[in-house]
Formats: sequence, C-alpha cells, structure tokens
Amino acid sequence: MTKEEYMGVQVSPLSYEEITQQLKQRVAQGEQSTIIAVNPEKIMKSQTDETLRDLINGSTFQIPDGVGVLLASRLKGGDINSRVTGVDMMDRLLQLSADEGYRVFFYGAKEEVVTKAIENIQQKYPAIQVAGYENGYAQDQEALIQKIQDSNADVMFVALGSPKQELWIRENKERLPVKVFQGVGGSFDVFAGHVKRAPAPFRKVGMEWFYRLATDPKRFKRQLALPKFLWRVITKK
Ligand code: UDP
Repeated sequence: MTKEEYMGVQVSPLSYEEITQQLKQRVAQGEQSTIIAVNPEKIMKSQTDETLRDLINGSTFQIPDGVGVLLASRLKGGDINSRVTGVDMMDRLLQLSADEGYRVFFYGAKEEVVTKAIENIQQKYPAIQVAGYENGYAQDQEALIQKIQDSNADVMFVALGSPKQELWIRENKERLPVKVFQGVGGSFDVFAGHVKRAPAPFRKVGMEWFYRLATDPKRFKRQLALPKFLWRVITKK
C-alpha cells in the first residue's frame, strides 16, 4: 500500500471501503492491524515528538482525519480526496463487525459513557457481538489484559485520548488475540450522545472545524496548527 508523506509523517490515501476491505482480508489471514487518526496538529507535534511520529508511522492505517491533510494532499497532487474521520471509521468497523460476526471490545471513557455508547451501538447494530468492555480509568492493568484475552475479541476500540491510547495499543497488542485496534479518542462520548457532532451541512462541506471553533473558542490555539502546517507543506520543496 503506497502511503503519502507530509513532513515525515505517513498518511494512508485509502477510503472507508478500501480500509474495511483490507481489514477483512487481514483478519482472515490472522494479521493484526492498527488504525490511527492523523491531523495537522499531530503532524506538527511529530516534528519535535519522535515517539508520536513513530507511533503514527508504525500503524497499519493512518487515516486522514481533518480537512487539513486533505488540503495538503490537493496542494501536493496527492490521492487523498476525502476525509476518513475516526468516529466514522469506528462506525464502519462496527458495521463490518456486525456483518462478519467479529467480537468487539470497548476500552476507555467514563463508566457511564462507555456503557451508554455500547447500548446505543447495540440498538444501531443488533447483530453486534460485544466481547466486553472496561472504562478508561481501570487501575489493574493485568486484570484488564486477562479480561481481554478471555473475551476472545477480534476488534478493539481504545478511547483514552491521544497518544495515550496508541501507546497502550503498542505496548499490549502482542499479548492480545485482537486483530484490529483503533484508537478513537472521544468517540465513545459521541456514540453515547454526550458530545454532539457538527450538523450535517457543516460536515458535508468540510467545515466541521469551523462549527467546533464557533461553539468552543478554546480550540483556537489547537487549530492554529492548520495554517502553520499548510504553510510548511506549500513552502517545502
Ligand atoms: N480518557 C480515559 N482515561 C484517561 C484519560 C481519558 O478513558 O486516563 C477518556 C476520556 O474520558 C474521553 C477520552 O478518553 O472519553 C478522551 O477524549 P478526547 O476527546 O480528549 O481525546 P482526543 O480525541 O482529543 O485524543
């Protein structure tokens, strides 16, 4: 699979359909896969944070979450022509799991959030097989590992925030039976209905960031990464 590279950070140019197809094959072959969301903020941070860059580049699928990576690909004549967001990727993976009978484990967020998210997911995908769950504040890591091993999970969503969730996946994946890991940040909060996504018209035209900024001005500093990132991409020979 050819990746695109922005300032030393790899991004997968695949669509939701292509990723789910590949995941299906990889699960059938018993191969482990990891999915990580990439955005301009993480790419900028990777310039000085080698651990983060290695975490991203060491993943199987680096999904272009955020309009910034899409713009960079356009400017550089790349092939990325739509966003692949963490929360929508999770939704596709839930659909695939329900269709294929994959067992799903949910780890992360507050107890009431993860349980509500699972309840809503079970309503949306009645065929889903929930292998188990744990909130993101578990103290006994060994007990958690045992629980996941016993659950025979095929797919696991880890919602501890980034890069905590990716570090957790990297550290533990070898001793787990899980075939597909996705670090999903605040997505359990979205599935639980605790965090509202931007209305569809904003999302359709790639303006989710604008909606978020307008409703949560604290994000301004984080979003400064976008113009800086685009400037670097344009001026880099
Ligand atoms: N979280 C957790 N354990 C921790 C820290 C955070 O389970 O030790 C959860 C938190 O409850 C929230 C999610 O991780 O559900 C963090 O989401 P956030 O939107 O901050 O992550 P981002 O997408 O920005 O990486």
